[in-house]
Amino acid sequence: MLSNIAARDVETLVHPYTNLATFRETGPLVLERGHGVWVYDTDGRPYLEGMAGLWCTALGYSNEELVEAATEQMSRLPFTHLFSGRSHDPAIELAETLKELMPVPTSKIFFTSSGSEANDTQVKLIWYMNNALGRPRKKKILSHRKGYHGVTVATASLTGLAANHADWDLPIPGFHHVACPHHYRGAEAGETEEAFSQRLADALEAQILAEDPDTVAAFFAEPVMGAGGAILPPADYFAKVQAVLDRYDIRFVADEIICGFGRTGNWFGSQSLGMRPATISFAKAVTSGYLPLGGISIDEPLYRAMLDESAKLGGFGHGTTYSGHPVACAVANKTIEIYKRDRIIARVAEKAPHFQARLTALGDHPLIGEARGIGLIGGIEIVADKASKRQYDPKAAVAARCVAFAQAEGLIVRFLTGDRIAVCPPLIIEPDEIDTLFERLTRALDRTA
Ligand code: PLP
Repeated sequence: MLSNIAARDVETLVHPYTNLATFRETGPLVLERGHGVWVYDTDGRPYLEGMAGLWCTALGYSNEELVEAATEQMSRLPFTHLFSGRSHDPAIELAETLKELMPVPTSKIFFTSSGSEANDTQVKLIWYMNNALGRPRKKKILSHRKGYHGVTVATASLTGLAANHADWDLPIPGFHHVACPHHYRGAEAGETEEAFSQRLADALEAQILAEDPDTVAAFFAEPVMGAGGAILPPADYFAKVQAVLDRYDIRFVADEIICGFGRTGNWFGSQSLGMRPATISFAKAVTSGYLPLGGISIDEPLYRAMLDESAKLGGFGHGTTYSGHPVACAVANKTIEIYKRDRIIARVAEKAPHFQARLTALGDHPLIGEARGIGLIGGIEIVADKASKRQYDPKAAVAARCVAFAQAEGLIVRFLTGDRIAVCPPLIIEPDEIDTLFERLTRALDRTA
């Protein structure tokens, strides 16, 4: 029997990424407030937010400084835009700060309101740039199977998950996927991580050659693959991929929408995973999830090409009403100030060994085939048989059941396809809360077994 508020929800809302059929019976978990790493439902029940909302609320739930930054900007100038030469101080300040922080050569910043829009902008600018450079055939885009890059027509095409393609008539032509760099699932018997990385880099090169390198424009990758299963590529994987991309002048785009702003123990996941991208997409933790904001870094060669192309066309025809929304920018400025002032990123690196030790220990659980992670992000993979890595029948929805048990234990984690569970708490989580998180997750696994 659904509560009154849950019943009203079921009657009126369509939820993203939800099994619309079973949801009619289960209804939603309706949250009302949050404090620190805790959120509370409408009955006042607390849950440890082990997913930082949706990989974003890095500073937790009751940060008064962020509320004040939003309130101050809201009362001063709640809206203006960046179209046609209009500007505002919060966007300028944020662009200056981000230019300094970016681990890649950055000439300018372009703001969006979401991660999907950021990656969509990347795709469009790559096409725009290659037209400006007089190479209109160089337009194809590569990305990983199991990668997640968003839901617009272009970014769902970039995404490498079946649920984003089947019956959506996607991917659109020109988007191609390469093997997922997941050693546990993808390696051949006895294959070392190094040999696995080399095999995947060779396969990438073969695919580029088969497509014709003059037609391949870019390769998109997350440092740690989030929605695909919290998958960590082998340590040398990106260096090997980079060498291939460099050979064929293929632009490397790092999708830092989850990993950006500290998640892996550095400011950006590219730094932790040894990536040298040309550009970065960011969103989520740039505002600690308090308001929607995303964007991309623009390097000088791209900016030059944009200048030429927009001069030729009489303008730069891209942007949305809320690109660089002033209140979102004000919150982002405060968020980054706090990251710096309170050593939030350095503290992630300090807390990570404890978090990772607790995560790795879950690997001993009879249900867990692999436990993997870096910084304050981790994934566990449920298997029916550890030795053969055999998976349960997807219809059994074992990971979903485990996540429901976790919720009953007062812990929010997220199940992903392939019986994977992601853990990604607010960056402010303290060691005793990390212990609580893993104790509750272990109890949920025990109940699932
Ligand atoms: N890229 C990555 C790596 C993501 O995790 C997400 C969202 O989870 C996106 C892109 C899309 O961002 P948004 O949902 O803000 O459009």
